Amino acid sequence: MTDVFTHVPLGVDRSWGHAMLRGFRMRCPACGQGSMFARILKVADSCPHCHEELHHHRADDAPPYFTIFIVGHIVIPLVLVIEKIWHPNMLWFVGATAIVTLALTAALMPRVKGAVVAMQWALRMHGFDYAARGNPAAGALDKDPAPPA
Ligand SMILES: [Zn+2]
Repeated sequence: MTDVFTHVPLGVDRSWGHAMLRGFRMRCPACGQGSMFARILKVADSCPHCHEELHHHRADDAPPYFTIFIVGHIVIPLVLVIEKIWHPNMLWFVGATAIVTLALTAALMPRVKGAVVAMQWALRMHGFDYAARGNPAAGALDKDPAPPA
């Protein structure tokens, strides 16, 4: 039995590294063609190219956490080195640091979120596991609700 969307046999591992690279490029983890995002940080319900369902993601607080982690490890050493070497005007320095921090955060946040969602897709977490979706005993959380009577 194969996954109807990715043509990957069910039970065969999806490449999480490959998927995360596609997610970091803000592309669908399944096909790499369609955009993952409907708006800036809003993940599309499904891929516009291959129709892979993406609404199952549960990225929650992970993308901001990883973005803060990355930006902090870039900006803080830069601030320390610049302060140690050039002793810039403090008002100018605080303003420039704020602008660089905000720009890096705005650039990285959607890419990190794309990578997190793609990792969840590759590891078949949450509702990304098609085999489990039809089997409540397998832990399917996103099973479609029963139609109203
Ligand atoms: Zn796709």
